[in-house]
Amino acid sequence: AKKLGRNRWQFYESTMNDAALERLRIEGALRKALERGEFVLHYQPQLDLASGRIVGMEALLRWQHPELGTVPPQRFIGLAEETGLIVPIGAWVLHTACAQARAWHDIAEPGGFGPLRVAVNLSARQFAQPDLVESIAQVLADTGLPPACLDIELTESLFVDDVAQAVDTLHRLKALGVALSIDDFGTGYSSFSYLRTFPIDVLKIDRSFMADIASDADEAAIVISIIALAHNLKLRVIAEGVESAAQLEFLRAHGCDEMQGYHFSRPVPAEEFERIVRSGR
Ligand code: C2E
Ligand code: CA
Ligand code: CA
Ligand code: CA
Repeated sequence: AKKLGRNRWQFYESTMNDAALERLRIEGALRKALERGEFVLHYQPQLDLASGRIVGMEALLRWQHPELGTVPPQRFIGLAEETGLIVPIGAWVLHTACAQARAWHDIAEPGGFGPLRVAVNLSARQFAQPDLVESIAQVLADTGLPPACLDIELTESLFVDDVAQAVDTLHRLKALGVALSIDDFGTGYSSFSYLRTFPIDVLKIDRSFMADIASDADEAAIVISIIALAHNLKLRVIAEGVESAAQLEFLRAHGCDEMQGYHFSRPVPAEEFERIVRSGR
């Protein structure tokens, strides 16, 4: 039994070391990626359902690895979060997205780009930074983006730890004039109480609710109810993961404000986003 215990311990120790080494390796790679400029943002258009016009875009992070190619965020955001590297990476995302949105505002041409809004995802680690609000204020000042054109996307999980602290942070963000969105609404630890406690502007209906809206009465009822809830609370509501014309028509018919999804466009590089804006209106 002793030997078994010892072997087991040795086995455990060696896998721990492998995991720790792997982590260190990826951490080093992420750090270098930031230094070498291997991160890029793709932009997914957000459409106003009533007018059919592009009113904004969500900035989504991609890692252009020299050997692995384009690495999607699910593959590295978790580790960036654990190691704290999400803080400098997130700062880069915010600055790049705001600078890009501002540059698009400045394109003066017939039809113009108009005051497109840009949505940026914030991680838990970033949300907990004591200087978060100051750093966002600085990015707005540096880039000249009007605060109302920045949507900060937060998930419900950020609010469960320290409610008083979260409420304080959200109020200070709102005081900057930015919009606050709840991402993936309806998943996670949804609670109605935070909707009256937190100064939220936008609900983003999670894409898991979209799949069957055009065919399944239960799914349809949930989405209709979220739209009504949002509007009764004077919030904007955005549907994510819209993949078909039937879903789009359903959302339009039920008064959803905006949508994003593969049906209109995948997230695309900045140059392609410009082409879409120019051809789409
Ligand atoms: P999210 O914030 O919920 O972003 C939406 C995800 O859904 C994106 O995946 C997008 O490409 C995908 N999507 C958009 N339309 C459709 C559709 O019609 N069908 C389907 N099946 N998927 C669609 P992506 O870009 O791989 O990002 C995944 C997650 O990574 C994001 O989920 C977000 O949580 C995180 N993420 C991405 N960029 C950042 C970032 O800059 N900072 C932080 N903290 N997290 C980020
Ligand atoms: Ca998001
Ligand atoms: Ca989402
Ligand atoms: Ca069902």
